[in-house]
Amino acid sequence: MTTTDVVVIGGGQAGLAAGYHLRRQNLDFVVLDAQSTAGGAWQHTWNSLRLFSPAAFSSLPGRLMPPEPGQEYPGAAHVVGYLSDYEQRYGLPVHRPVTVRSVHRDGTRLRAETDAGHWSARAVVSATGTWWRPFLPAVPGQETFTGRQLHTTGYRRPSDFAGQHVVVVGGGNSGAQITADLSGHGGIDLTWVTQRPPRLLADDIDGRALFDAATARRRALDEGLTDTGGVASLGDIVAVPPVRTARDAGLLKAQPMFTALTEDGVEWPDGTRARAASVIWCTGFRPALSHLAPLGLRGRRGHIATRGTRATDEPRLHLLGYGDWTGPASATLIGVGRPARDAAREIAALLG
Ligand SMILES: Cc1cc2nc3c(=O)[nH]c(=O)nc-3n(C[C@H](O)[C@H](O)[C@H](O)COP(=O)(O)OP(=O)(O)OC[C@H]3O[C@@H](n4cnc5c(N)ncnc54)[C@H](O)[C@@H]3O)c2cc1C
Repeated sequence: MTTTDVVVIGGGQAGLAAGYHLRRQNLDFVVLDAQSTAGGAWQHTWNSLRLFSPAAFSSLPGRLMPPEPGQEYPGAAHVVGYLSDYEQRYGLPVHRPVTVRSVHRDGTRLRAETDAGHWSARAVVSATGTWWRPFLPAVPGQETFTGRQLHTTGYRRPSDFAGQHVVVVGGGNSGAQITADLSGHGGIDLTWVTQRPPRLLADDIDGRALFDAATARRRALDEGLTDTGGVASLGDIVAVPPVRTARDAGLLKAQPMFTALTEDGVEWPDGTRARAASVIWCTGFRPALSHLAPLGLRGRRGHIATRGTRATDEPRLHLLGYGDWTGPASATLIGVGRPARDAAREIAALLG
């Protein structure tokens, strides 16, 4: 058993931001990350993915992301390079690959049990993201469908679907971007399906404005003012350049949601059918929190009740990243810095 002040679980951007601020508080800590290499979920996204903000507005605390030459919106590989450089530059003590299987109360301490030994800490920051828990809705006929079903997490490139009928499900950013990616590729017969008509944000709104909207909403809620609606009030889909190109070419036309899968496609309530060799479910994620199950903290929708980043019923546990429920825009590169700073300060105060 290794002892330390703080165990950070997850070495993606949220875990690194936590490490940066724990270091500034002079705390002893380790970051345990299940991946073999730096970069968290960004290592696994589809090839053409681009950030929805310019580099300078996608930075972690302390170090600006450099621009990617020739690109206003950096690609995922550029983010991986930035995160890798970030953890080296600050000498963050990241141990990988180490998967935390469970976290337990152990007297005055918390014990993280992993596939590479146990760590005992006075506080834990969980920063495990959502990519590892894809969500797929249950739809009748799923078991009879003979084609391929995959989630956003399994999509890489259009050429994997050459010559196929493909149905993309989902009216968020992933659904729109993957539809745009596939639509530019000849030889794919594409159907895009969304639960409600797609809501594209205005072209001049990017991640900067989303960050401002999320921050304004949190401030209003904290001050007991009317809910501003946050990012959702602006729309669902950021019009990043490939989405704009597909929209302007008339290729982003969505159908309403189908109600069943058939043996070789999908079916709408009026009996209309579309063939599909592949269905790509861009239907979101849930927080990856199963390692915290022994603490018995799970609340509504799989979340854990928090005040800021601190778990309401376990003051030694902080949650970072995941979504706005752990801080405004906490699940973004630019947004995670402030909740990470607050978490580190609270932990330092708790540990005296
Ligand atoms: C398609 C898509 C596009 C996005 N685009 C943008 C964008 O343009 N700009 C932006 O700011 N944000 C964007 N985001 C949101 C967000 O920035 C990313 O999801 C980001 O990867 C979240 O970082 P994270 O550190 O919270 O989680 P992750 O990157 O998922 O990192 C978590 C790390 O924890 C590890 N881990 C998980 N469980 C365990 C365990 N039990 N033990 C040990 N380690 C574990 C994982 O292996 C991983 O390395 C996007 C998200 C998606 C899905």
